[in-house]
Amino acid sequence: MGFYCQRHSYETELTTKVVSCTQAQVKLEVNGRKQNVKGFELILEDTVLFPEGGGQPDDRGTINNVEVLRITRKGADAIHFVTSSLEPGSEVTQKVDWKRRFDHMQQHSGQHLVTAIADDKYGWKTTSWDLGREKSFIELDTPKISQEQLEELEKDTNDAIRKCIPMTPRLVELGSKELQEVRTRGLPDDHVGLVRIVEIEGIEANLCCGTHVSNLSHLQAIKLLGAEKGKKGKTNLYFLAGNRVLSYLGKCYNNEKALNLSLKCGPDEHVQQVDKIQKSLKTANKTSLTVLRELAVLEARHYKLNPNRDPLLSIHRKEGDSEYMIIVANEVGPENALMLLSTGEENGAGLFLVAGPTDIVEEAGPRVASLLEGKGACKNGRYQGKATKLSKRSEAEKLLRDFTHKLNLNS
Ligand SMILES: [Zn+2]
Repeated sequence: MGFYCQRHSYETELTTKVVSCTQAQVKLEVNGRKQNVKGFELILEDTVLFPEGGGQPDDRGTINNVEVLRITRKGADAIHFVTSSLEPGSEVTQKVDWKRRFDHMQQHSGQHLVTAIADDKYGWKTTSWDLGREKSFIELDTPKISQEQLEELEKDTNDAIRKCIPMTPRLVELGSKELQEVRTRGLPDDHVGLVRIVEIEGIEANLCCGTHVSNLSHLQAIKLLGAEKGKKGKTNLYFLAGNRVLSYLGKCYNNEKALNLSLKCGPDEHVQQVDKIQKSLKTANKTSLTVLRELAVLEARHYKLNPNRDPLLSIHRKEGDSEYMIIVANEVGPENALMLLSTGEENGAGLFLVAGPTDIVEEAGPRVASLLEGKGACKNGRYQGKATKLSKRSEAEKLLRDFTHKLNLNS
């Protein structure tokens, strides 16, 4: 009873026979996008590939070296989705992607252990769990978990792992007395036949269809990462089990090394150093804004003081902003010049402003916008917009110069 993968969770290969092969189309994630994929659904005499269930995702692997893209359970059958057909009655060899499977076994068995200890010690029931791609969480029926409780739970979990306790699946009759004493979140609606119990000797028995480690020592270690507020009255407890603890630690260590170099201090001072940098950056930003405003005023005054000034005032300042442009425009005054002001990447995108006598601005503004391949609007006698091609600025200058003869400048 049950699939081969459930009876022999450490086996990675199986030779079996094709029972049926039917054409099908399923929705699969290909390169992060859901797509319809045409292929075949295979039912085999038995399977070493686990179909999804109990919160554990389905396996990956091959059948006669053809990749299996999805495995689901329908009643007592496992449905393997592949892109090439196989003859019913023919013998096939299945192989499991063991790295993925063993990872799932470690996370799933780890969940059983944390669930059992959280219930025994604090009376927190597990209401659901999620085996994530990087980290997993257990939804516990408690509004809060304190830091001390978290540490205790982690300690007890790892103590149990060190005791090398066997973890064994067995089958019992539906309706048997034993079933009343096991932990369960219910059976699937289409369940048929005997019921499977997974027992951690002396700790708990749990109704479950998953593939599990045979001994708690195979979990290596469990790290409780932290607890976050979940759905109403619930808390999500994040954890890593087994090899994930090692790979996560490796990732953290590499990050730490990179931060040591860029922050020029050891890990104990990282947070302090980042705070310091953020504070000084804030001060520097404030200073540069003040200087930019003052510069706008001075530039405008300098222009106005020149007796032989060009009636077209054209300024591009890469580090400027729209406030800088408005200050220049106000300080010069619309009656004193026709202005083309811009900020941003010289040959790329940026902001622009056309200012001067309202009638000229209204006529010339939209034409400047289209020359700079941007868009904008006229407001308070100024035309302000976004440009995508500031490289065409000289053409806009040329256009505005043609308008300067209309100016009746005060001097
Ligand atoms: Zn389970």
